[in-house]
Amino acid sequence: MSRLFDPHIHMYSRTTDDYESMSKAGIEVIVQPSFWLGSPRTSVGTFRDYWEHMISFETERAKLFGIDHYVCISVNPKEAAHRPLALEALNEMQGFLNRERVVAIGEIGYNLINQSEEEIFIKQLEIARSQNMLCMIHLPHENKKKGMQKMEKLLKIQRKGNYDKSKILIDHNTEETIEKTLELGFWAGLTVYPITKLNPRRAMDIIKKHGSERLMINSAADWGISDPLSVPLMAREMRKEGFSLTDIENVTLYNAFNFFKQSNNFKWKL
Ligand SMILES: [Zn+2]
Repeated sequence: MSRLFDPHIHMYSRTTDDYESMSKAGIEVIVQPSFWLGSPRTSVGTFRDYWEHMISFETERAKLFGIDHYVCISVNPKEAAHRPLALEALNEMQGFLNRERVVAIGEIGYNLINQSEEEIFIKQLEIARSQNMLCMIHLPHENKKKGMQKMEKLLKIQRKGNYDKSKILIDHNTEETIEKTLELGFWAGLTVYPITKLNPRRAMDIIKKHGSERLMINSAADWGISDPLSVPLMAREMRKEGFSLTDIENVTLYNAFNFFKQSNNFKWKL
C-alpha cells in the first residue's frame, strides 16, 4: 500500500471513525487549514480557542491513529466583513504563527470577491511574506475564473519581487483555473468531493492534460457532504485507469510533501 498525504482536511468537523478509516487506507500525514465554523463568531476568543484546539487536541487525536497532523492558521474570507473582529483576529493570529505544528497561513482568499475580503486577504499575504511562511489560498466556490483573475492581478502587483510563488498553494482548482495556476508557477490543489467540486473522473482528466507536476489531491472534507477518503480513492481510480506509479505518487504524496517541507515546522519524513 502506498503512503498517502491529505494536504487539506477539516478534522475539526469529522469523527474518530474517520481517523480510523483514513489511517487504515494509508493516510499518514494531513494538513488542517482554518475554516469558517458555520456560524458567525462573537468574539476574538473563539478564534484563539479554535486555533489552540487544532494545534493541541487534533494533533493528539490524529496521533492515536498514527497520523501526523499539521495546521494552517487564518481568518477566513467569510469572516472578513465582520469589523473590527476580523482585524482583532489578525492581530491575535500573530501569537500562533510560530507554534509547533503551524506550517502555513491558510486558507485565505476570496469568497464573495469584495473589497473587505480583499483587504483581509492582502494583510494575510503580507504577514506570510514578512515571516517567510507558506500560504494556502483557496479559489472561491463560485466565480472561480473571476477570483483567479483578481488574484493574478493582486499577486502580480504585490509580488514585485516579494511573493515567492514556490511558497503559494492555490486550492480548489477546476478545469477553468488549472492552466492559469500552473502557468503562474504556483502549486495547485485539486479537491475531490462526492457531489460538488471535482469527482475522480474530472480530476484524472485534468492530470492527463496537465501532467502531475505541482498538482496535489485533497479531500477538503468538512461539515458538508465530503469524503475523508478522497485521496486513497483517487489513488485507486488512477491505478485502475493505468496511470504510472510516478503520477499517482506525485499527486497523492510527493507534491504535497515537497510543498509543506519548505516549512521548518513540518517534520514528517518520507
Ligand atoms: Zn477548506
